[in-house]
Amino acid sequence: MSSLAPTFPARSYAFSPYAPCPNWIGGHWLPAASGESLPIHNPRHAEVMGHVAMSAAADVDAAVAAARAAFPGWKDTPLKERVQVLFRLKALMERDIDELSWLVSHENGKVLPEARGDVLKGIECLEFGLSLENMAQGEQLDVSRGINCSVTHEPLGVVAGIVPFNFPVMVPLWMLPQALAAGNCFVLKPSELVPYGALKLASLLQEAGLPSGVFNTVNGAQPAVEAIVDHPGIKAVGFVGSTRVARTLYARGAALGKRMLCLGGAKNHLLVVPDADVEMTASTVVASAYGCAGQRCMAASTMIAVGDVQHIVDAIAANVRNLRLGEDMGPIIHAAAVDRIHRYIDEAERMGAKVVVDGRRVAPVDGRGHWVGPTVLDHVRPDMPAGCEEIFGPVLSILRARTVDEAIAIENNNPYGNAASIFTTNGAVARYCIDRFEAGMCGINVGVPVPREPFGFGGWNHSLFGQGDLTGYDGFRFWTRPRKLTSRWTLSKDATWMS
Ligand code: NAD
Repeated sequence: MSSLAPTFPARSYAFSPYAPCPNWIGGHWLPAASGESLPIHNPRHAEVMGHVAMSAAADVDAAVAAARAAFPGWKDTPLKERVQVLFRLKALMERDIDELSWLVSHENGKVLPEARGDVLKGIECLEFGLSLENMAQGEQLDVSRGINCSVTHEPLGVVAGIVPFNFPVMVPLWMLPQALAAGNCFVLKPSELVPYGALKLASLLQEAGLPSGVFNTVNGAQPAVEAIVDHPGIKAVGFVGSTRVARTLYARGAALGKRMLCLGGAKNHLLVVPDADVEMTASTVVASAYGCAGQRCMAASTMIAVGDVQHIVDAIAANVRNLRLGEDMGPIIHAAAVDRIHRYIDEAERMGAKVVVDGRRVAPVDGRGHWVGPTVLDHVRPDMPAGCEEIFGPVLSILRARTVDEAIAIENNNPYGNAASIFTTNGAVARYCIDRFEAGMCGINVGVPVPREPFGFGGWNHSLFGQGDLTGYDGFRFWTRPRKLTSRWTLSKDATWMS
C-alpha cells in the first residue's frame, strides 16, 4: 500500500490529488484488464483526484477466481479467528480516521463532520460484526430419546456487494462484517464516483491480516455490475443504490436463482402537526433535509404540514437561511445532479409551488465546484415531481394537509417506503401514524430514523427488492444458509424416531 500512501491535509478542504485507484484482486493492485480508467472528480473543487479502473467481465472473473481459491481456507478458519481480523480492522480504522474522513469528504463532497460520521457509523456496523459469535452459535435440541437436532449457519461461498456514491465507507460496512465473519469471500463493486473509501478499506483489511482473495474490489460501472450479477460463481448479491437499478438487478439475479437483496431510493415524509415542539421540530427537519446536501436515502425530502403549522414552517425557513454553504452543507456530487435538482425546483415553481428559499443561483464556494443552495418549496402537491419523486438534493418540499388522515394518505400513496416520521407531543397521534405509515423505518420526533445496530436497515415497497433487512441479524441470515443436522448417538434400542 505504500505506493498508494497519500499526502493530504487532514481536517482541511484544500484540494489535493490522491492515488490511482486500481482493482484489489487476490492480494494485488491491478488495472482493469482492458486498461480503461475514468477520472475521479472532486465535487468541491471540480478537480481530478485520480483515475479509477473501469472493469468488465474479465476482471470479475479474476476476482471470483481469487475469492473461490481463498474460500476453503477462510471457511475452515474458526469464527473466533475470523472475527479477530475485524477487531484489528476496527483499530486500524480508528487509527486512520482522519485520513478516512478526509477521503470521504474529498471524493464525495460531504463537509468534514459528516464525513467523519460516515466513518464512525461504519465502525459501529463493524462492532456489530464483532458480536457475531453470539449469533452464529446456532441452536440444538434433543428431539427424541438419543436423537439431537442442531442448526449451524454456513457461508454461501463467494458473495458480492454493489454500493452507491453517498456513503463510501459506511455502506460497504453494512455488508462486510456479517459476510466475512460468516466465512464468505467477498467481491465489492464501489461507486465509480467515490472509489477511495473502498480502496482504503481493502488496504486496511490486508494490514489487519485478512488472507489474500477473501476480500476483493472490482471498480467500474454497469458492465462490471452486470458481470457480477450474471457470474455463476457468485451466490448472493447485496445492492444499494437507486430504485431503477435495484429493481432491474433484482429481477436479473433472481431469474438466475441467485439470492438478491437490493435497496433502492426513497421519498421520505415527515408529518408535522400543530402541537409539535417548534424549536426541536424546526432544527430536526432542517438537519434531516440538508445534511449531506440532501444526498441521503433517509433525508427528509417531503414535509407534510398538517393544519396550521405556519409558525413551524417560518422557523424552518429561518434556520435554512442560516445554513453556511461549504461549512454546514457540502457540494453536489456532479454537474448533472445539479441540473437535475434545478429541474425539480423549476418545474415545481412552474406548477404553482412557492419557492420560499431559493438555492438555484448560489455563488460556488471559492468560485468552483458543484453547488446548490438549501431550498424550501411550499404548497407542493403530490402530483408535482418534487412532491413524489426522489430529488436527492438539498430541497425540502412542503405539502399542506388539513388532517392527519389526509397526510397519511399522501405518505401511503407514494410508491417508496424507506422512512416516515411524525412530529408531535401527543403519544396517541404518534401511535396512530406509526401504525399506518407505509415505511420500513419510522420515527417519532426523529428526522433521520436510521435504526442503530443491532436493529436492521431496510425499507419497504419500492425502496427494497428482496426479503428482510441488509444489516443487523437479517444481514447475517442473508449471507448464510442454515444446515440442519439430525444425529442419533445412543446405546439403548428404544430411540423413537419417525423412521
Ligand atoms: P446508482 O443506482 O446510480 O448507483 C449505485 C451502484 O449501481 C453504483 O455502484 C453504480 O456503479 C451502479 N450502477 C449505476 N447504474 C447502473 C446500471 N444501469 N446498471 C448496473 N449498475 C449500475 O445510485 P447512486 O447515484 O450511486 O446513489 C444514489 C441512490 O442510492 C439514491 O437513489 C439513494 O436513495 C440510493 N440509496 C439507497 C440507500 C438505501 O439504503 N435504500 C442507501 C444509500 C443510497
